[in-house]
Amino acid sequence: GIPSAAPPPLAQRRPTRQLNVGGVLVGGGAPVSVQSMTTTRTSDINATLQQIAELTASGCQIVRVAVPTNDDADALPAIAKKSQIPVIADIHFQPKYVFAAIDAGCAAVRVNPGNIKKFDDKVGEIAKAATEAGTPIRIGVNAGSLDKRLLEKYGKPTAEALVESALWECSLFEEHGFGDIKISVKHNDPVVMVRAYRLLSQQCDYPLHLGVTEAGPAFQGTIKSAAAFGALLSEGIGDTIRVSLSAPPVEEIKVGTQILESLGLRERGLEIVSCPSCGRAQVDVYKLAEEVTAGLEGLPVPLRVAVMGCVVNGPGEAREADLGVASGNGKGQIFVKGEVIRTVPESQIVETLIEEAVRIADQMGAD
Ligand code: SF4
Repeated sequence: GIPSAAPPPLAQRRPTRQLNVGGVLVGGGAPVSVQSMTTTRTSDINATLQQIAELTASGCQIVRVAVPTNDDADALPAIAKKSQIPVIADIHFQPKYVFAAIDAGCAAVRVNPGNIKKFDDKVGEIAKAATEAGTPIRIGVNAGSLDKRLLEKYGKPTAEALVESALWECSLFEEHGFGDIKISVKHNDPVVMVRAYRLLSQQCDYPLHLGVTEAGPAFQGTIKSAAAFGALLSEGIGDTIRVSLSAPPVEEIKVGTQILESLGLRERGLEIVSCPSCGRAQVDVYKLAEEVTAGLEGLPVPLRVAVMGCVVNGPGEAREADLGVASGNGKGQIFVKGEVIRTVPESQIVETLIEEAVRIADQMGAD
């Protein structure tokens, strides 16, 4: 087998219904998918498709586009047609755009019950159009735009309020026999968010889209999302994820993918096992780890590469990896599959590791 394959996941996935979002299965045991959202004006078709292409290349599986205006709605047919991955139309205020998105061939539509005021009397028509087109709907509840009625009832967007809002909205669709639904209940506080998703997962079997909303700039947002998704996914809760960062959307995909890999929910790609360095280090571990990471980026096979600063844990970790270096005395012992294949001067460590990694990757590809 592949030595770097992820270990068994921490928990059985919670059984849910399965949706087909433009060819990507969500829920019902399908692999957890990673999503993002474009930041371009959706009406700027070329810019939006360009960003979708970048997202696709970085591993994004489903992409969402905002539809705040008529011009954006008009752009949907071209975007849905030319995008390489399923496109979800994100609709906050106007039910008419829901129909436009369904007609445009979008893979799904996201609606926000708190924001669509005149929604109730349109649910029947939406359910009918969505059923005919086979278009799933995400009910996306956000703490920042919670239904006024529930805000009054609970005083603030608590986990219970978010869940009640989502399930109430589902019930409107269910009355019309529509169940092709996934749900999100996002909050900017991971603690409230985790509690909301736990509650929700006890009360329905719809697939769940995880997200910490307004998670912040890259560093903070990454930590918040990793902590919250880690808690939920390790309990088997969550079928598709979106990391929200105040950063380019490609970064969201990198973080989301890494979270899934870390939790063993996805085969690991390149994994650098590098030590934090300490007073025993005999090389600049940070620099070495960075150079090796940069040199191996985009290698198309799962590979575990150990970069260790000295001989204490060095040889042990390097042996466990596919490839590694244990440094000492201005030299690096290069290990491949547990065997020291050669010892090189410090200046040649990076190039040797990269050479060996490419060789191993070629072999793996040939298998
Ligand atoms: Fe320190 Fe060596 Fe461990 Fe790195 S491998 S943290 S240098 S003891």
